[in-house]
Amino acid sequence: MPGKVYIVGAGPGSADLLTLRAASRLRAAQVVLHDDLVPAEILELCALSRVINVGKRCGRHANSQEQINALMVWHARQGKTVVRLKSGDPAVFGRLGEELDALRKAGIEFEVVPGITAASAAAAVAGITLTDRRAASALVMLTAHSYRGEKLRARGFDPQHTTFAVYMPGPDYGRTASELIESGVDASTSCVVVSNAGRASQDVRFMALAGLRTASGIAAPAILIVGEVAREANNMQAPQAELFLKLRAELQVPISTEYV
Ligand code: SAH
Repeated sequence: MPGKVYIVGAGPGSADLLTLRAASRLRAAQVVLHDDLVPAEILELCALSRVINVGKRCGRHANSQEQINALMVWHARQGKTVVRLKSGDPAVFGRLGEELDALRKAGIEFEVVPGITAASAAAAVAGITLTDRRAASALVMLTAHSYRGEKLRARGFDPQHTTFAVYMPGPDYGRTASELIESGVDASTSCVVVSNAGRASQDVRFMALAGLRTASGIAAPAILIVGEVAREANNMQAPQAELFLKLRAELQVPISTEYV
């Protein structure tokens, strides 16, 4: 009897941002096929499994997508419980479609376990929201490294009310910024680059989109969030304080000014 394949989202890279379901599937796995971005801390949960790094960046021979598909199918046909572990959410820039096609074609049963995607982890770390009814009514997930080699395009969206979450924005951040500007996003638009979101080494940098052209030393993996919502929290303090005082006056309740 063939086994089953669980395609599991590992979240942004720290074990406590893994879902309980993901942790339980990892503990029960007999074979784990994982990507490079998954840290050792998470792999420790699969102490009883055969753990195979199929990542593209693991120095030695890089596995093609076809090889990864074949490995999943082969292990499942041996009757094994297989976990295909991917960073973030498997359905966001994770080649999930190709893997599901291969499993369907081979008649292998599967389950997808969602994970926290990098944009959500980065927004949490930066203290911003991805949508804010006052500033952004749309969230667009883009990649600077498209399969077809297309340029980043913000056309078709109102850049003043849209948040762009750009996955794989580097290493040429200048090009990423220029492509967004050329396609209609104002060079003065706020943005934040978050590297290693959710991990001990996380780094958050707020700037204007034009400033990204000269930014350097941004460690991978990093995500770029562009839009009015990506304004550094300090800049928001003045209007927030005003609103707070207005509300206090209107409500006529004794709220302490120490919160302002
Ligand atoms: N499926 C993943 C995305 C895979 S593409 C997800 O849902 O998050 C790989 C890209 O994701 C990286 O180049 C980077 O842009 C982003 N990424 C993944 N982990 C990240 C992290 N911890 N911090 C910042 N960006 C991250």
